[in-house]
Amino acid sequence: MASSIAVIGSGMAALGAAYRLRENGVVPTLYEKNTYPGGHTASWKNEQGFVFDEGPHISFTKDKRVQSLLAKSVNNEYEVINAKVNNYWKGHWIKHPAQCNLYGLPSELIVNILREFIETTYSERRDIKTYADWLFASYGETFARTFPMTYGKKYHTVSADRMSTDWLGPRLYKPDIEEILRGAISPSTPDVHYVSDFRYPTRDGFVAYLRLFLENLHIRFDHNVDAINPDAKELRFRNGACVKYDALISSMPLPELLPRIAGVPDDVLEASQKLACTTCVVVNIGLDRDNISDAHWTYFYDDDFIFTRLSFPHMLSPGNVPPGKGSIQAELYYSRKYRPLTVSENSLIDPTLRDLRRCGLLREGDKVVCKEAKVIPYANVIFDLDRDAALNVVHGFLDEVGIKYCGRYGEWGYHWTDQSLMSGERAADEVLDGK
Ligand SMILES: Cc1cc2nc3c(=O)[nH]c(=O)nc-3n(C[C@H](O)[C@H](O)[C@H](O)COP(=O)(O)OP(=O)(O)OC[C@H]3O[C@@H](n4cnc5c(N)ncnc54)[C@H](O)[C@@H]3O)c2cc1C
Repeated sequence: MASSIAVIGSGMAALGAAYRLRENGVVPTLYEKNTYPGGHTASWKNEQGFVFDEGPHISFTKDKRVQSLLAKSVNNEYEVINAKVNNYWKGHWIKHPAQCNLYGLPSELIVNILREFIETTYSERRDIKTYADWLFASYGETFARTFPMTYGKKYHTVSADRMSTDWLGPRLYKPDIEEILRGAISPSTPDVHYVSDFRYPTRDGFVAYLRLFLENLHIRFDHNVDAINPDAKELRFRNGACVKYDALISSMPLPELLPRIAGVPDDVLEASQKLACTTCVVVNIGLDRDNISDAHWTYFYDDDFIFTRLSFPHMLSPGNVPPGKGSIQAELYYSRKYRPLTVSENSLIDPTLRDLRRCGLLREGDKVVCKEAKVIPYANVIFDLDRDAALNVVHGFLDEVGIKYCGRYGEWGYHWTDQSLMSGERAADEVLDGK
């Protein structure tokens, strides 16, 4: 078995790998480019006392073992919250998911949606190649175009006809006819969102869930991996350091990892650059009141709203804000491949405030206590039509040179935190098994 194990990163996946290795008596070293741990699961408290996570983070894992590890991390001090989710479309606030809650929308729109939904339900199954095909076959064209296709273009930055369906899982709810009809004639419908309830640490933001995993861990911060030589089994860092390893597990994004590997063939390098991911700008706002919304998060469908989704950190835990204050986190999406971010993140704060006013969440007389914008360069993997083939080439090469990969950006999937943790554990198992 390998004696010196290097793990790149210190997010959920790397921590999962380290935890599994240590359970088996092996002590790895984690190399992290940042000066703090956690990757996407980091949280910050600002000078005004507002806690913001790096993008909205809640735990909705159904896995009992992960639930209990996270609970142990926070000494059982967590909030259990029944998720309330809604949508905003042309001035209408619609319970989520919209397909089950058409009540109150323009009647012409409802009639078209219902007619097409019934037609698609009883028509012959279509050949489904893209996300657009799936949406048309599942909901009919009017609903698909008005809601998920418009939202999807904002969120994924690419249109549905250029995306596969590999990522869908439970994310888009497929109701039966009765649910759609009931939702069209009644304002009150059952909750069917795939996140029904969730947990969140009472204190210090989502990052508090990492405590258990960080205990007595060997992490070298400010160690940005710059070059990897898989033959010499050597890692070089931007700070000039160089270390040898017997086994290497990486959670860093594949498009960044591959160019750093010595001897990577051109076709593999090219494939790694075809892997697309969104960049998220989060705009964090602190307000002097807490009655901002009764939903925990809201999806925004209109093209002319700059943000795609809003969430309200003060509703996750009172510990996230000073008493009586409220907070909003807006997500704005870009991608190098389809919608490059060409302006500074700070220039996006004012348009965000403008659109918060337009939808009525920000009112005349509200005092903005704090505002900031942060860029998350790697946010959501884009399941475009290049992904599958490119990923096979990249993963095939990593297997050949013996570099284990894990996490959202190593597996290049739509992993939530629990899946990233377990992905790290799987990578550690492979090392322990000597595969
Ligand atoms: C906006 C947003 C909202 C989300 N909301 C939720 C949610 O509500 N619930 C949920 O369960 N999941 C959520 N997720 C998903 C969740 O964030 C991920 O599943 C998880 O955090 C990924 O962990 P990871 O370790 O795979 O990647 P990361 O957290 O990105 O960790 C990778 C680490 O590698 C480091 N690294 C990168 N390059 C180098 C290098 N060259 N040298 C050294 N270190 C390097 C990075 O600094 C980072 O620490 C959300 C994600 C986003 C983007």
